[in-house]
Amino acid sequence: EAKREGRNYIRYYCEDLSNPRPNQLSLENDLYYALERKEMQLFYQPQVNVRTGKIIGAEALLRWKHPKYGYLSPADFIPLMEETGLIIPIGEWLIREACNQLYAWSSKGLEELSISVNISPVQFKSDILVGTVNEAIASSKINPSQFKIEITENMLVHSIEETTRILDQLKHIGIGVSIDDFGKGYSSLNYLKKFPIQTIKIDRAFVKEIEQDHYDQVIVKAIIQMGKSLNINLIAEGTETKQQIEYLRNSGCETVQGFYFSKPVPPKVFEELYDTWNELASKWLYKN
Ligand code: C2E
Ligand code: MG
Ligand code: MG
Ligand code: MG
Repeated sequence: EAKREGRNYIRYYCEDLSNPRPNQLSLENDLYYALERKEMQLFYQPQVNVRTGKIIGAEALLRWKHPKYGYLSPADFIPLMEETGLIIPIGEWLIREACNQLYAWSSKGLEELSISVNISPVQFKSDILVGTVNEAIASSKINPSQFKIEITENMLVHSIEETTRILDQLKHIGIGVSIDDFGKGYSSLNYLKKFPIQTIKIDRAFVKEIEQDHYDQVIVKAIIQMGKSLNINLIAEGTETKQQIEYLRNSGCETVQGFYFSKPVPPKVFEELYDTWNELASKWLYKN
């Protein structure tokens, strides 16, 4: 499924701009220069609390504006960044960039936002993650509790000791840890007890047909129940319709992220969105 999605994204990004298809070899070469040529950008997608109607967070999503191929999706180049080790410097850059962005936003009055950054397994296991996060938070002057990392379940089931050590250090800094794509990977639920997890992001595969599919309904309700009992926050991913959002809200999941509200957008557009938000929100918000 991931592969199919990846191809769709390639088509979406490339055909849109009538660019040629990327060639892996030349991509690898270009990737080495992407950072210094300032071709890497972060887009942001709002996370919305549908009870209060407020934007409570932004997930940072990496985009590569390739001079020849146009905007490339992470699915096209993150594996390459991992193979080449470039995920480390680019990852450092993006953690700093996200922290600085959040600071700039709070000075502009976009308040009570958190920012979420995706961390790849290679980055997570590198010894520098904790130091990078620590420095980025200190030098940007944001509150550590406003910063979150997103990791996937698969990363937690290997080398429990190492994972515990890293997550404890991150907890000590005071940042939040979210489990991305929850329910999609191979996992043992035991880690929810072992590790300091703040948020579960319900994978969009369960959201897609939530109104019709009994199986998805049962699973999502069980995840929500479990999250509530364990005091873990829930975010539903990939919410594209008002009906999905209503179903989720009625089932007890109040925070959503998806195309219904907004695609990931550049920082300037995110600010505009935030400014006109109350107007937008009134269109769908329930009467409480
Ligand atoms: P993810 O972290 O699960 O991010 C959500 C992905 O779902 C994003 O794709 C987003 O554009 C897409 N999405 C959001 N709402 C909807 C919706 O309503 N419908 C549909 N169909 N899709 C939606 P994107 O930006 O292409 O990123 C794909 C994946 O690449 C991310 O999945 C994440 O695993 C990875 N990624 C993105 N940025 C980074 C990064 O900076 N570092 C690392 N290590 N991985 C990243
Ligand atoms: Mg994510
Ligand atoms: Mg996800
Ligand atoms: Mg996903």
